[in-house]
Amino acid sequence: MSVWDGVYESRSTTAISKQIASGEVPHAWLLLGPSGSGKRMTAVAMAAALNCRNQPGVGCGECGICVRIGRHRHPDVHHIAPEGPIIPVDLIRESVIPEASRSPFEAERKVFIIEEAERMHPYAQNALLKTLEEPQDDTTLILISDREEELLDTIRSRCRVVRLDSVPENEIVNLLIKEGASDETAHLAARLSDGDVERARALALDEAAIARRWLFRGIPGRLRQVKDAFDAATEVIAEAKDAVKEREKSQKAEVADLAGALGEGRGTASARNALAKRHKRELRRLEDEVLGDALRSLASFYRDVLASRHGGAAAIANLDMSADIQAWAGGELTDASLVSAVERCVEARADLLKNANPQLAMEAAMVELVRLVPAPALEATW
Ligand SMILES: [Zn+2]
Repeated sequence: MSVWDGVYESRSTTAISKQIASGEVPHAWLLLGPSGSGKRMTAVAMAAALNCRNQPGVGCGECGICVRIGRHRHPDVHHIAPEGPIIPVDLIRESVIPEASRSPFEAERKVFIIEEAERMHPYAQNALLKTLEEPQDDTTLILISDREEELLDTIRSRCRVVRLDSVPENEIVNLLIKEGASDETAHLAARLSDGDVERARALALDEAAIARRWLFRGIPGRLRQVKDAFDAATEVIAEAKDAVKEREKSQKAEVADLAGALGEGRGTASARNALAKRHKRELRRLEDEVLGDALRSLASFYRDVLASRHGGAAAIANLDMSADIQAWAGGELTDASLVSAVERCVEARADLLKNANPQLAMEAAMVELVRLVPAPALEATW
């Protein structure tokens, strides 16, 4: 077993793993590639390979260090991601620059994984330059982005640039089957994930994500009256809150782990603070992710109805709903309403990213869906 097992193997990832195994590792990396090309998983595998003590430079995938890094639960591996639409300069100033100049708490190397790096405000990109140029010996920065053109040239030129390709659907299916998913589940998850391996893995193997999708997939068929819209919005919000509660439990365990590792001595406060901040951000992001999943799921259903009506049945994403999709496609809803419904979901997602009130944004979207695409009276098949 190795930390690279879950990463789709390509020329690029092989080159990265070889470079890390050689021990001569650049301090700053920029992983580029379309959404779903496994950039984040590759970055996490790199962080584990750099820190594993069982198989240094390789990453055994089984030791405590590899496992915690894999779960994003290691105090020396920092994940930085946008808050709302951007990564503000404050986040870089507070969570990257000072941390990057401290020694690791327990690992060999500190690793900063900056997700959607193109969303760093230009001030944030500028603030990062010095750290990128002269990092501490024991610090590695990994920037990941699918929009290279929005990064300053000065950022790019300071990093080792690696390009990853999107992962073909059949490869995702193979990966999922290898990891224990049934054939049918693997195909469905791969299709729904739109080429995103991590999302596919959650949809195939993570019980909470699977249960959530069951809730979300039932929503279009229930939206008949305004009351249904409010009910559905409330359920989606409750689902997000439950996910946050679950995560809070595991965060508590992480705080206890850290206390065990560090003791209560002097100088441990900054570690505790950093962890508390990270946890807060993580919760906000998780809530956002669940709400986003709900909207994406709705949009994909209405899109499937359109596709099915116009001869694209082979391309539908919700493979397990094809009977309902065909019934809707044969119904009276106009193409224009279906298109508007998809657009409304996309808009609501954008509103949430701009920090709209989740309950209000969700209710507004659902009420609009009742008006645009009220569920036809069908025999319930789910
Ligand atoms: Zn290991």
